[in-house]
Amino acid sequence: MATQVQTYKFFLNGKWTASSETFELVNPASGAIIGRVPRASVEDMKEAVEVARKAFEAQAWRDMEQTKRGKILMQIAALLRDHFNEISELETLNQGKPLRESKADVAWTIRAFEYWGGAADKIEGETIPVTANRLTYTLREPLGVTAHIIPWNYPLALATRSLAPALAAGNTVVAKPAELTPLTLLRVAEFAQKAGLPDGVLNVITGSGAEAGRALVSNSDVDGITFTGSTETGRQIMETAAKNVTPVLLELGGKNPNIIFPDADLQKAAQMAKYAIFTNAGQMCWAGSRLFLHDLIYEKVLAELKKQTEQIRMGPGLDEKSELGPMVSKDQQERVIGYIKSGVEEGGNLITGGQPPEDPTLHKGFFIKPTIFAEVNPKMRIGCEEIFGPVLTVFRFSAVEDVIRMANDTRFGLYAGVWTRDLTLAHRLIRELQAGVVAVNDYLVAYPQTPFGGYKDSGIGYESGLQAISHYTRIKSVTVNAS
Ligand code: NDP
Repeated sequence: MATQVQTYKFFLNGKWTASSETFELVNPASGAIIGRVPRASVEDMKEAVEVARKAFEAQAWRDMEQTKRGKILMQIAALLRDHFNEISELETLNQGKPLRESKADVAWTIRAFEYWGGAADKIEGETIPVTANRLTYTLREPLGVTAHIIPWNYPLALATRSLAPALAAGNTVVAKPAELTPLTLLRVAEFAQKAGLPDGVLNVITGSGAEAGRALVSNSDVDGITFTGSTETGRQIMETAAKNVTPVLLELGGKNPNIIFPDADLQKAAQMAKYAIFTNAGQMCWAGSRLFLHDLIYEKVLAELKKQTEQIRMGPGLDEKSELGPMVSKDQQERVIGYIKSGVEEGGNLITGGQPPEDPTLHKGFFIKPTIFAEVNPKMRIGCEEIFGPVLTVFRFSAVEDVIRMANDTRFGLYAGVWTRDLTLAHRLIRELQAGVVAVNDYLVAYPQTPFGGYKDSGIGYESGLQAISHYTRIKSVTVNAS
C-alpha cells in the first residue's frame, strides 16, 4: 500500500472541510508521517453541532421510513465489504495492529452496521393496561444530536458500536475520532454519503480531545454523549455533561481477571490467556491483564505461556506474518515502559520481555516485547492499574473464595474469564464476579448483539445489543382517553 503523505479534510454537513491548523499522523510501526489531518477549532465544533441540530429538525432522517433508514446502514456495510482489504490496511497503517486483527475489526464493523440496519424498524414502544377507556402506550423517540468521542484502540469498530445504533434510532451524529487514528472513520463518512445518508446527519470532525472533544461534550445543544476511553477523561466528561443534564454512556478502563482452574483444558486456556493480553498489543479495555493460576497448575501453565509468548512474531502490522504490532504512539510506548520499570522496582518477577525488541528494523516503531510478570501482588502498580500494553501480570491462588476476592479487589469491573469444566463452579463465579461481561472457557468475545458495559469505574450503560437503544432514545408515555 502506498504511504505518501496525504492531507485530509473533515466531514461537515456532507462537505469535506479543511482547517487552518493540522496535525501529523504517524505510522506506529515505523514512525513515518503518513498524513495531515485538520485540527478542528472550538468554532468548527460549534458549527458541527448546529449542522447536526438542523439536520435533526429537518426530519429527513428521523421521519424517514424506518426500513429505509435501516437499508442505508446496510448499504454502508455493503460498501465496507467492497473495500474490505483497503479499509483493513488503512486501519493497520494508522493504528499499528496486525492486519488479521484489523480484518477481524472490519468484519465486526460490517456485522454491526447490518445488525443496526436490521434493528432500525424494530425499535418499539409498548402498550400498558390501565383502564378500559384509556389507551396508554409508549413511543421511543430519537434523542436528537448525539456526540461520540472515539478512542484509538479500535478506531473503526468502536466508532460504529456507538454511531450505528444512534443513526438506527433516527438521531444525528457528531463524531470526534481520536487524533491519532481518524482515517477509517473518515472513510466511513464517505461511504455513508454514498449510501444515501442525508447531509448533516453524520459529521466526523477531527481534532484534539482537549479542544474539539471538550467543545463537543460541553455544548448544551448535544442531547446524548457516548465516550470510550480512560476513566479519568470519562469522569471529566460526566462532570461537564452534568452541567447540561446530558445523558452519558461511558465505557472506560479495565483490569480484568482471567482465572484458570486445574480441571480446565489447560492447553486452550494458556493459548487464550496469551491472546487475551497480547491482541492489539494489550491496548484493550477488556484485556485479560490479570491472570489467576491455581496453585496446582501454576508452574505448568506459566511455563507453557512463557514458551508461547517467546514465539510470538513481532513486526509491522502490514506484514501478514506479524502477530504483535507496535503501541499506537511513542507516548503510549513510554507510558507502558514506565509501568514495566515500576513493576521491576516494586519486586515483580519479570519472566520474559520488558523492553523494546533487539531487531534494529523495529527501532523506529513503538514496539515493546510481550511481557510477563509472575508472582504479582495487587498492591504493586502493575497489579492494580490499567497498563494498556502487552504486559501480563500473573497471580497465584488456591481457594475459590480467595480468587473471587482478589478478582473483585479492583476499582474496575468490565470483563472476566473463567476456565473450568465444573458447571457449579462456573455458575458460582458468574454470580460473584463483579464484571459486566463474563466469558467461560473463552475470552475476547463480543458480538454486535451482546450488551457490553462495566461495573464500578469501568463505566455506565451498555453498548451493543438492543439494550443500547435505550441510550439513543427517550420514551414518551401517551394516554388517549376514548370515553
Ligand atoms: P483518553 O480517555 O484521554 O482519550 C479517549 C478519547 O477521548 C480520545 O478521542 C480523546 O481525544 C478524547 N478526549 C480526551 N480528553 C477529552 C476531553 N476533555 N473531552 C472530550 N474528549 C476528550 O485516553 P488517552 O488516549 O489519553 O489514553 C490514556 C489511557 O486511557 C490509556 O493508556 C488507557 O488506559 C485508557 N484508554 C482506554 C480505552 C478503552 O477502550 N476503554 C481507549 C483509549 C484509552 P484525543 O485522543 O484526540 O486527544
